[in-house]
Amino acid sequence: MRIVDLSRELYHRTPAYPGQPPIIHGIWKTHEEAFAESGNIQGNSVMFFSMPDHGGTHIDAPRHFGKSGTPIDKYPLENCIVQGICIDLRHIKPRAEITPGDLQAAVDKAGVPIPKKGTVLLCTGHHARTFPTGAYATDNPGVNVAATEWLAHQGIVHFGIDSMRPGPEGKVNSLVHKACLELGFTHIESLCNLEALLGLGEFQFIGLPLKWREGTGSPIRAVAVFKD
Ligand SMILES: [Zn+2]
Repeated sequence: MRIVDLSRELYHRTPAYPGQPPIIHGIWKTHEEAFAESGNIQGNSVMFFSMPDHGGTHIDAPRHFGKSGTPIDKYPLENCIVQGICIDLRHIKPRAEITPGDLQAAVDKAGVPIPKKGTVLLCTGHHARTFPTGAYATDNPGVNVAATEWLAHQGIVHFGIDSMRPGPEGKVNSLVHKACLELGFTHIESLCNLEALLGLGEFQFIGLPLKWREGTGSPIRAVAVFKD
């Protein structure tokens, strides 16, 4: 078994979505403080974090898109361990819309069928190009509504992308989120390292969310698993 890590590193003030709370990671208790408290016994250090439920590599719960959507604690875990493929969209320009034609051409080029009830990861190269500069938060290409509908009609449970939003910044991105609610599927944002999957065919995708009560999303540790 070989595992490819598709998750962004989390650290203090890692780039967060514009307008959302910052990601904070700090020391709650040092080894020295803990040692002083416990006397001669080994002291245990503890850190703490504070972040939006859409921080770092994460899955959007349908609740994010509307009140009628499923919250993250009720999101089916069967959708979090699925077969997947990754397609190459690195030729799409920054801020441009990815169309159904672009997706079809990339799937044809990958030469592997889209797994039913699986996922499709869109490698736009945006993370590799821009992270962690300011352009990471603004300049991504992304799917338009027609492409979102095209993906849903392939019978997959979600799609993933290597940027902070599935659509290009602005109205299209909002409409893509609305379409996801109507189509009954969702997406995973801020993936990275998707380039490592290109040309390797089908893999198992694992991205389990935390069990936040009524949450609108959750960070995940996203990985691709290749069986020997
Ligand atoms: Zn999100």
